[in-house]
Amino acid sequence: MTHPRVRFAPSPTGELHVGNARTALFNWLFARRHGGVFILRIEDTDASRSSTAHEVRLMDGLRWLGLGWDEGVGEGGEDGPYRQSERLALYGDRAEDLIRRGLAYPCFCSLHELEEERAAQREAGKASLYPGRCRRIPKDEAARRRAVEPAAVRFDVGAAAAGDASIGFEDLVHGEVRFPVSQIGDFVILRRDGWPSYNFAVVVDDLQMRVTHVIRGDDHLSNTPRQLLVGRGLLATAPPRFAHLPLIAGPGGAPLSKREGAASLAWFREQGYPPEALMNYLALLGWSPPGGQDLLTGEELIAQFGFDRVSRAPAIFDRPKLDALAARHMARLPADRLVELASGQLRKAGILGSDLPPGAPEWIGRLALLYADRLPRMSDLPKEAHALFDFTPEKSLADPEVRRALDDSRSRGVIEALSRRLGREPLTAPRFQALADEVRRETGAKGKDLYHPIRIALTGAASGPEMVKMLPVIEEGSRLPLPRSIASCGERARALLAATRGSTA
Ligand code: GLU
Repeated sequence: MTHPRVRFAPSPTGELHVGNARTALFNWLFARRHGGVFILRIEDTDASRSSTAHEVRLMDGLRWLGLGWDEGVGEGGEDGPYRQSERLALYGDRAEDLIRRGLAYPCFCSLHELEEERAAQREAGKASLYPGRCRRIPKDEAARRRAVEPAAVRFDVGAAAAGDASIGFEDLVHGEVRFPVSQIGDFVILRRDGWPSYNFAVVVDDLQMRVTHVIRGDDHLSNTPRQLLVGRGLLATAPPRFAHLPLIAGPGGAPLSKREGAASLAWFREQGYPPEALMNYLALLGWSPPGGQDLLTGEELIAQFGFDRVSRAPAIFDRPKLDALAARHMARLPADRLVELASGQLRKAGILGSDLPPGAPEWIGRLALLYADRLPRMSDLPKEAHALFDFTPEKSLADPEVRRALDDSRSRGVIEALSRRLGREPLTAPRFQALADEVRRETGAKGKDLYHPIRIALTGAASGPEMVKMLPVIEEGSRLPLPRSIASCGERARALLAATRGSTA
């Protein structure tokens, strides 16, 4: 394939949500796979709903996901400007040209009149189609009236169809698609205020930006014949190829709701999901890799992506599946990425302040690594690592297993023997091993009888990450000046023993 040119064309009227992000991703993957160009065009023709704030957030979301673009808003390029609101003169010129060539005409019908007509058609159970009233106004009369009366511009569908009864195209996902021309009424291409309609602007732009493949949601499938006709009217020599992607639904096929986090990509970012995981999961919404492997990096996705494996059936957005994939990505992240993701979340939880003390980033990395393989999102870290941050003897003793260990003289003996040895000296992994050996020799406890009491005394829980990795992280944290200080291993053991003194069986 010779270098395709594709575009992602969002309207900046809201957050970048899952469906749009998936559309952007498939465009990006296709462009990257074939050495093509990925364009970002902002479709802000609905001026009352569009905002710069949304545009900024859209671009921010794309960059976060790793979808950089080659041309477009923020990047420039020879076919700009890339914001439709800055291209009004071009749409005006193209519409005039269509009028001159008899493919469009001014429409003087009032909005009120049109609305009444549509209501009557609805009532009669008919499709609402413009009956072509203004098409019949002679050209010179229309021109005279246009100088003094407000007018929209309508596309003359019949003239563009030039006798064809249907308009068809070969969709890369849906195969042959065909629509009867009789179902397409003459539609507005330029509103009275001079702003273009979506079906017109998109074609003018795709043509001028030399877009070769239009990849978008299948809610646009029925717009395609209109756009093909406009393309003919504009004398496009080769229309773009189309790939209409399946809808994304929530569990059970219901529309995607906020519960699935579908409201916006920003939500996943705030929750500390790794963007690599989102990219991977979004790619699987409607596409399946040929090898069946589900954990894929951006590079692997690019290498395998193709429309032959895009499904027509709606894709189901399944949070548990995303979470399982995300935890696997999390476990593969390098330490600096873990630190980046974890710092913000620990700050939000009040565990870190705005300034990190020296040594804190390395410590955060080691802490996050302890839990990474069970975390789909970093916002779960404070909860998952509560054993570190929320130690109190009372909380620990609320767990019957901890209580039982403290009541059992052999277990208690192990904790006491360890506690006597935990002084000022930092508890590194080798030192912990050495101390555990000493305790084993002193008490005779070994294996589970040795490690279980130690674990529950120092972490307040019967399970968790490997102690040889976890205890040094507790110790290191206890020496950092944090807003909420972390109790050292010695403090933990001593506090627990003190709280239960006298209650020994
Ligand atoms: N602005 C349109 C949308 O967000 C673009 C559709 C298209 O790609 O043609 O749905």
